[in-house]
Amino acid sequence: MKHSKKSRKILILGFAAVLMVLLILGAIFVLEAKSTLYNEKNNYLEEISYKSAENIHGEITGNLSTIDAIASILGGHEDFSVEHALPLLKEEANKDLFIRMGIILPNGEAYTTDGLHFDLSQRDYFKKAMINENVVSDTLNDVVNGNKINVFSAPIHHDNQIAGVIFATKSHEAFSKSLSIESFHGEGYSYIIKSNGEPVIQTSHKNSIENYNNFFTDISKSGTRTEDLQRMKNNIANNKNGSFQYNKNNTDYQVCYTKIGINDWYVVSLVPSQVISAQSDKLISKLIFLTIAIIFFTALLGFFMIRSYENNNKKLEKLAYTDEITGCSNRAKFYVDAQKLLKDNTDVDYALVLLDIRKFKVINDMFGHETGNDILKRICKILCQNTDDAEAFARISSDNFDILMKHPSDYEVICRLEKILSNLENMIDDYKIEIAVGIYPILDHNADINIIHDRAGVAKNIAKRQNDTFYHFFREENRQEIIDEKEIENIMESALEHNEFEVYLQPKYLLANNKVVGAEALVRWNRGEAGIIQPNDFIPIFEKNGFIRKLDLYMFEKVCELMEKWKIQHPNVEIPPISVNISRVHLSDQNLPTKLWAIANKYKIDHNLLEIELTESAVFLGLDNMIEIMHNIKKAGFLLSIDDFGSGYSSLGALKDLPTDFVKLDKSFLDDSVNNQRSESIIRNIISMTKGLGIATVAEGVEDAAQANLLRSAGCDIVQGFYFSKPITIEEFEKIIF
Ligand code: C2E
Ligand code: MG
Ligand code: MG
Repeated sequence: MKHSKKSRKILILGFAAVLMVLLILGAIFVLEAKSTLYNEKNNYLEEISYKSAENIHGEITGNLSTIDAIASILGGHEDFSVEHALPLLKEEANKDLFIRMGIILPNGEAYTTDGLHFDLSQRDYFKKAMINENVVSDTLNDVVNGNKINVFSAPIHHDNQIAGVIFATKSHEAFSKSLSIESFHGEGYSYIIKSNGEPVIQTSHKNSIENYNNFFTDISKSGTRTEDLQRMKNNIANNKNGSFQYNKNNTDYQVCYTKIGINDWYVVSLVPSQVISAQSDKLISKLIFLTIAIIFFTALLGFFMIRSYENNNKKLEKLAYTDEITGCSNRAKFYVDAQKLLKDNTDVDYALVLLDIRKFKVINDMFGHETGNDILKRICKILCQNTDDAEAFARISSDNFDILMKHPSDYEVICRLEKILSNLENMIDDYKIEIAVGIYPILDHNADINIIHDRAGVAKNIAKRQNDTFYHFFREENRQEIIDEKEIENIMESALEHNEFEVYLQPKYLLANNKVVGAEALVRWNRGEAGIIQPNDFIPIFEKNGFIRKLDLYMFEKVCELMEKWKIQHPNVEIPPISVNISRVHLSDQNLPTKLWAIANKYKIDHNLLEIELTESAVFLGLDNMIEIMHNIKKAGFLLSIDDFGSGYSSLGALKDLPTDFVKLDKSFLDDSVNNQRSESIIRNIISMTKGLGIATVAEGVEDAAQANLLRSAGCDIVQGFYFSKPITIEEFEKIIF
């Protein structure tokens, strides 16, 4: 149970970890996607800025070439003069391209194609053309009407000297048109600025900075970071392009500046960042939604898996822990609960009370099984009402109940029992239900629950025999009723020396073909004339006094010795594996695997012909301890099996962590399996569970054909039981296998 809680915790933690990893991966993915998309958009803006620069560069150089070509034509004439040249220029002047064209004489007097005459000696474009440069001017005010214009100029070469300058005026609007980039749904726009930030060409875009005097000054006012501005200035000073972000009126803008290659001009393109990221934001929202959806469904899956795991566990637990007829606890549950209560409440005095209904068979016969069952149920109800949380009770078998009752004094226990009895009295008309109760005051809370139960059982048997009272308290002298422990302790050492402990073998059969596939070594104490004592009568005593360690190793060595003999006598026969029981007392001995290893090696027996049977109840001594020792036994090469599996259920959940080869299904399941749906269902569940874990199942205590058939249909691999063979002597076993 503790282990199943642990598994549940691991499962939950596992899922939490998976969710965490998904969350982190999702976040990384979304951020990565966001930055990639943003960079892509930014590159796009840079590209557009670059294209604008290229367009403007192309347009200006085209215009300059046109002017230059006309200048060549004019200068090429034999007699160059304004009077001759102006009519020619009129022919050449392209009205669509320029507002007007004209010729400026070296003294600065200008004559235009539309008949105007004025002084342009102070214009930069004139001065530069006179020193042989093709020029496009910054934005100027038209001398004629004050409109904004840009002027193209080129020198006129005549007779190897500059005889004048040709100029062409272009409207500023026409220029800015080629700047308007149809990008980002019309939200993007561009300027042309000089390297000192002064405007060359404005834009009429709705979001643009209107009539600014200097781009740098303006954007520094609008919250551009000084380092970005400084970087832009440095880049421009070094003829480099670049980009940055700035905020104006609470809107973030992405700014790109690209050198045009004409004068010191730069194209500056701007677009609201929001526009750049609008599309990517949509995509990101979808990604975030998808990530959350994945996490949500994983969490949901985890939730359902954990719930179904818990439900399954609960079902199995319920199946294995409840008594079918009364719905109260059964023996397995009672043993678990009782041991826990004894361990947790060391300061409380307890007694184990065994309650038996007298002549229950007679009641069943006289009043029917229905009534019999009703009495059992009623007893459960009464016990439930008359016990508290620090007590436990269960129906152990047909009409037998165990109660772990507080025992402040014998008197108080008797009072409570009398109350219970009085509740039963009127259940059947004209019939008085009688009970017999044995009480064992528990002196040692750590004592073996089986021994406690046996002693209470002795007291109950005495109670059954007496007629005056319905109860009996276990007294020291009652020990004679069982086996005199002291006497056994006195003779056990010498019995071992005199080889009184003998190996019996009970064959194991493969259900598929009824072939012998191994045997279990079971100890018998041969006391000569006094007869043979069965293990159940001395093993609990040996487990208490520790002598079991010697006996187990003795049995193991006897089995090895026997196998060595077989190897020599029957070199051509395959020897079957033999299993040996090792008591849970050994689990505190970390050297056990080494000891077994040394004995097997002494007789040169293949370790995988030796199987170690550990009882399931060993789990009570600590699961981690059990797992560790089992791993070490496996490491030493021996086969492992868990004996009496299911009797305490405690290891059901832990099974997957136990490195076992076999599970030996507890005999108690088989006892009423054939007529009992519940036991059958437990058997099937355990077999399918072990199969799922790759562990073979051995069913013990198979006593008839019906049980064998049931096991076959449930998929059980190996069987062992009186129906196939009782434990037999070595000689009898040899007859079977050789
Ligand atoms: P176990 O290891 O579960 O052994 C199976 C017990 O069931 C044996 O009882 C066997 O005789 C009995 N059995 C087998 N088939 C049937 C069947 O069809 N019907 C019934 N009613 N019983 C069947 P056994 O030999 O009396 O041994 C009892 C227990 O004593 C063993 O249970 C085992 O836990 C313990 N034991 C026996 N030998 C040793 C030993 O050398 N060392 C230790 N530590 N324990 C031993
Ligand atoms: Mg066994
Ligand atoms: Mg067993």
